[in-house]
Amino acid sequence: MKIFCIGKNYAEHAAEMGGSVPDQPLIFMKPSTALLLENKAFYYPTFTKNLHYEGEIVLKIKKNGRHIQPEFASDYYDYIGFGFDLTARDLQDECKKKGHPWEIAKAFDHSAPLGNFVSVHDYDIHNISFTTHLNGVVVQEGNTADLIFDFNYLVCYISRYFQFQTGDLIFTGTPAGVGPLKIGDVLEGFIGDKKMLSCEIK
Ligand code: MG
Repeated sequence: MKIFCIGKNYAEHAAEMGGSVPDQPLIFMKPSTALLLENKAFYYPTFTKNLHYEGEIVLKIKKNGRHIQPEFASDYYDYIGFGFDLTARDLQDECKKKGHPWEIAKAFDHSAPLGNFVSVHDYDIHNISFTTHLNGVVVQEGNTADLIFDFNYLVCYISRYFQFQTGDLIFTGTPAGVGPLKIGDVLEGFIGDKKMLSCEIK
């Protein structure tokens, strides 16, 4: 099982990171050991002093495929979920400065808390609102209408380079409003008004 993640897929988030919008999807991966399931607590790692949340809609790939054409892209997923792309921002900044890969900043153990899934067929994929709540306060408000590269584009693009296997996941990118976490915080992810995920930082 592979976890694909998309960087800078919402213009306002790209701007808050001090970068421009990419002209093709910015892809990185996390190993399966990054997953944190069943609303389990996340333990703040000792290697960072600036852990950030990034709330994201996640696609679950339902069948194997490669070189997927646009007209078939929507056949490759039935379910969407909510996940956090937890990021050691201080390590990421160092990696970027050195021009190094950023796995230690984004792909570490439990860096991908992931909640429940719902049928994508209950939604218009170009108008899904989602929010991140930190200690009960809304800190990120996203809508897939604002995606730079939409779900189907991502499925086609990723499959040019990587063979999809059943169960692969795509973290589709975070909207603006990312920020730091501290021990004791409670993070929650909502799609519309449905709570999908809760994660306490310990
Ligand atoms: Mg992200």
